[in-house]
Amino acid sequence: MKPFVNLAEQRNAYRQEFEEIEKDILDSGCYIGGPQVKNLEKELSCYIGKGKNNGKSYETITCGSGTDALTIALMALAPEKGFRHQDEIIVPDFTFIAPAESISALGAMPKFADINPKTLQIAPESVAKLVNSNTRGIIAVNLFGQCAPYGELREIADKFGLWIIEDSAQAFGAYQSGKPACTFGDIAITSFYPTKPLGCYGDGGALFTQDRALAEKIRMIANHGSRGHYEHEIIGMNSRLDALQAGILRVKLRHLDEELAARRQNAVKYNSFFISVWNQMLCPGNRVTPQSTAEENLSTYAQYTVLAENRGNFIKRLQQAEIPYCIHYPTPLHSQPCFKAQNLDPQMNAIADEICHKVVSLPVCAFTDVDEIIGRLTKAMG
Ligand SMILES: *Cc1c(COP(=O)(O)O)cnc(C)c1O
Repeated sequence: MKPFVNLAEQRNAYRQEFEEIEKDILDSGCYIGGPQVKNLEKELSCYIGKGKNNGKSYETITCGSGTDALTIALMALAPEKGFRHQDEIIVPDFTFIAPAESISALGAMPKFADINPKTLQIAPESVAKLVNSNTRGIIAVNLFGQCAPYGELREIADKFGLWIIEDSAQAFGAYQSGKPACTFGDIAITSFYPTKPLGCYGDGGALFTQDRALAEKIRMIANHGSRGHYEHEIIGMNSRLDALQAGILRVKLRHLDEELAARRQNAVKYNSFFISVWNQMLCPGNRVTPQSTAEENLSTYAQYTVLAENRGNFIKRLQQAEIPYCIHYPTPLHSQPCFKAQNLDPQMNAIADEICHKVVSLPVCAFTDVDEIIGRLTKAMG
């Protein structure tokens, strides 16, 4: 079976560029920080500075992982004495654990908002219901590569004096209304985990902001609370991207737009197959509905995810056809054992609950032969 994300084939495609930069970095004697990291940060800032941005410029601060980036963003936005247990931060109920985990790890309380049943993104009306005098901010997630509904989220945030952290771990390279992802939050973050649309060969992450003072604070937090010279103004941590990862990312960034174009084309092929072939041919009860993309959004398709009416049956067919698949995500966050102490109502967020039982993600990376997969699916219909 072909891998779900074909990183070996990607390496083959750009092998010469990788090997050149890897050799340069290993021979340079400079392994942490240095010119590769500085240049990558400039190139990432430049990338999100394009599009409809009214000439605004962004600063990029790289760090050790997407989860670190979330923790650092929260530390940068926390009240001076840190979060207290009463401080509430709203996150989508249907996503990877990292945003909720980082809130709890810093002593605040995650509050879980329900999602839109079609786009699977955080639902602003559910967010609005959760806001109270203890709410400090929102972590919005650009799930599966599509931007969250920032127009409505920003209205809520402004009305109640909340900040927004944009978790764009899956969506570097996405757009909403012509504006690049990573420009919607007071702070945005991304992850360079190998299987993300822009991934390195280990762990890595970055934060983005246009607020110079915040950028400076973020840089200090990621560097032991210091501007350097062994003076530590605030409590920070050690979180940095190394030179080798930065070099790998600089190569991949040059190819990102062509890869995203291929992912989008793959998604179009799947969509038309499921809507005009699969759902027409199979008996009712076996319908497969692709995650819908809001009109203003251009997704990175970090995941190509469908809702299967009868997931057990759909998975059986995938297995017979030897098509790799993943379940993102099997459980809403409010049902995770680590949040048991919060005594949450198991019935809360009915949509997130239902969606978790239907989702299936299919291979979609730029090195996936979707025509071949659709051929196998066609045979599996019989
Ligand atoms: C992957 C991911 C993260 C965490 O990134 P790491 O680099 O793995 O720490 C955070 N949020 C979301 C939505 C993710 O998909």
